[in-house]
Amino acid sequence: MAKITLDNLAHSYLSHPKSEDDFALKELNHDWVDGEAYALLGASGCGKSTLLNIISGLLEPSQGRILFDDQDVTHAPTAERNIAQVFQFPVVYDTMTVRDNLAFPLRNRGEDASYVASRVNEIAKMIGMEAELDRKARGLTADAKQKISLGRGMVREDVNALLFDEPLTVIDPHMKWELRTQLKSLHHEFGHTMIYVTHDQTEALTFADKVVVMYDGRVVQIGTPQELFERPAHTFVGYFIGSPGMNLFDAQIDGQTALINGVKMPLGAGFAPAGGRTQVGVRPEFIRLSDAENGLPAKILRVEDVGRHKIVRLDVGGTQASAIAGEGDEIPSGTSRVTFDLKGVNVYADDWRVSPQGEAA
Ligand code: ADP
Ligand code: MG
Repeated sequence: MAKITLDNLAHSYLSHPKSEDDFALKELNHDWVDGEAYALLGASGCGKSTLLNIISGLLEPSQGRILFDDQDVTHAPTAERNIAQVFQFPVVYDTMTVRDNLAFPLRNRGEDASYVASRVNEIAKMIGMEAELDRKARGLTADAKQKISLGRGMVREDVNALLFDEPLTVIDPHMKWELRTQLKSLHHEFGHTMIYVTHDQTEALTFADKVVVMYDGRVVQIGTPQELFERPAHTFVGYFIGSPGMNLFDAQIDGQTALINGVKMPLGAGFAPAGGRTQVGVRPEFIRLSDAENGLPAKILRVEDVGRHKIVRLDVGGTQASAIAGEGDEIPSGTSRVTFDLKGVNVYADDWRVSPQGEAA
């Protein structure tokens, strides 16, 4: 297990990148703490696999260094980095049995036969394939083959890190949940540094201690699920995470008040944005429908009952917005006003969150 340091790291697939736009991975500095479980979350094409493959050594970065426990491994081949990586699609030896596939990484390291046998049985149990150990991998479903790939990734106990690149894509939904739970318990048991790539927020939020959110080649926030919910550092984090995502209103800020559609709304703290496009971000959970005189006028478009609560779709002066109301709440029809729960108000300047005055960094 190791701490992984990304030092001034950036990558372009072009040999002569001209501008920042030519970089699939924009400059990044970060320490991945030894023994933590991270999820790397972002839309398709934002650079997740690029970053993961640089960490594993499948790709050499065009700029910067990677260190494992302060040792520079930037130019070290994958094999020397002592990591396990599981990909989106199965990588198995078709002519070998399930057992031999699982045993392969251990035999490769010269582990003794009795240890290999018992470890393979443990892993087979985790992936639910004890009954198929003596079958050849050829002829198994894609789903079963992917479970073998996962098992092979988890079989060694002495790796520096475990890297997973959207490993559950081909797995059916029920088994997905089961395997994710297994990965999580594996993490608790062995305390490996784990990096789990996904475009699925639920997967990221349930798996990880820390979620690394990427957008357009850039890491926009690293935080606990709670931090991403309460203080999205970038508007992308606000609307990508959450269901529905965060509402954004164009605003002019004057100290402790925002002017939205000509209405003064309290912010609960003082802000001094540096200019650019200023927006107030409020998650649907923190929007209240009210008949308060001082609220922001809103038209109720429709109400969706999603079981535990209701989602109220609104038109706020031409901006689409959503509010979450309790299952038993009376929803007025037609027009209403909305107010903000002050603990859920964030201010953004050109998409980046502005810290309120006095907030601890
Ligand atoms: P993700 O895993 O988040 O979907 P990738 O890291 O695969 O994203 O890709 C990031 C960007 O780099 C995309 O624009 C993609 O088209 C580009 N890219 C990925 N692999 C290559 C490659 N081998 N050659 C050129 N461009 C690539
Ligand atoms: Mg990818």
